[in-house]
Amino acid sequence: MIPFNRPYMTGKEHLYIDQAHSNRKLAGDGIFTKNCHEWLEKNTSTKKALLTHSCTAALEMAAILADIQPGDEVIMPSYTFVSTANAFVLRGGIPVFVDIRPDTLNIDEKLIEAAITPKTKAIVPVHYAGVGCEMDVIMEIANRHNLLVIEDAAQGVMSTYKGKPLGAIGHLGAYSFHETKNVISGEGGALIVNDERFVNRAEIIREKGTNRSQFFRGQIDKYTWVDIGSSFLPSEIMAAFLWAQLQEADDITQKRLAIWDQYHAELAEYEEKGYLRRPIIPAETQQNAHMYYILLNSLEERTKVIERLKKKDINAVFHYVPLHSSPGGLKYGRKNGELPLTEDLSDRLLRLPLWVGMNEVKTICAELF
Ligand SMILES: *Cc1c(COP(=O)(O)O)cnc(C)c1O
Repeated sequence: MIPFNRPYMTGKEHLYIDQAHSNRKLAGDGIFTKNCHEWLEKNTSTKKALLTHSCTAALEMAAILADIQPGDEVIMPSYTFVSTANAFVLRGGIPVFVDIRPDTLNIDEKLIEAAITPKTKAIVPVHYAGVGCEMDVIMEIANRHNLLVIEDAAQGVMSTYKGKPLGAIGHLGAYSFHETKNVISGEGGALIVNDERFVNRAEIIREKGTNRSQFFRGQIDKYTWVDIGSSFLPSEIMAAFLWAQLQEADDITQKRLAIWDQYHAELAEYEEKGYLRRPIIPAETQQNAHMYYILLNSLEERTKVIERLKKKDINAVFHYVPLHSSPGGLKYGRKNGELPLTEDLSDRLLRLPLWVGMNEVKTICAELF
């Protein structure tokens, strides 16, 4: 049996969890959370990183920070995970879906400007498969229209665009440490605060709308309710696990890239024969090998390949059902124009197993056709 994903452990997770245990510090914002914050701030060159219990939570914090009000519009791709849209819908916002680029499957930056209305508040680029969106163009459009850019960098930890870390280019960025991502803590995430205007309020929103973070730093002598908020922080147990992973993030990325490169080499011949299309990585981006996907020629072809792999106990999967045509998307969002590429590509995409420690790339490729 070759699973689609197998969470990788660095070996230090137990040790750090034991330490959190003997420290008797189990709630959030202890030493392990602090270590993770410092690591993230250093590695993204940002002033503030805040651990959350998921990327979904980080996106929800971003929606509050963006001050999304009922009826405000947020431009995003339809080809993404539900949390990208849900975070804004929870504030009464309306996701406005636009189509994706045929090469990276990222939001097509050329379609963004036409989707802007007086109600638009933010643009949410999603770095699909950890490959950067065309951020220079997106930032230029946002600045010209006075919009916020909130990067869904759930898949983009350790990736860069023109040398800048994904998640640290827009005003706010969200990372995921879910066990299906590259660097993990079971569930987990982080909000990257690139625009310093949001630092204070981000801390408050994460701490149930209180100024407890300032209190802990000795900046005020009592803490109290000052704003809306929720409990967005993870426990120290989770941060201890994550600390073991972050310390090995470079190694994890290199190991994943080696497997990715092996797929890419193995599948070149199939691409030449016209059986599939391999991922395209633009020269200005450095990816993190979050995913190896192939694009088959049709939905029927994809179904056949999945069945063929299944018979050999190889688990290959696809995603996403486009949001614009999902029941939730129809109810809470709207599309701007047609989305032919989203509809076509989502039918033909197949994700192949990729996890640190696997050495079955050749076997899998041999079973595809
Ligand atoms: C995984 C993922 C999320 C959600 O991450 P969680 O940490 O599970 O909340 C959001 N957006 C994208 C694009 C993702 O891939």
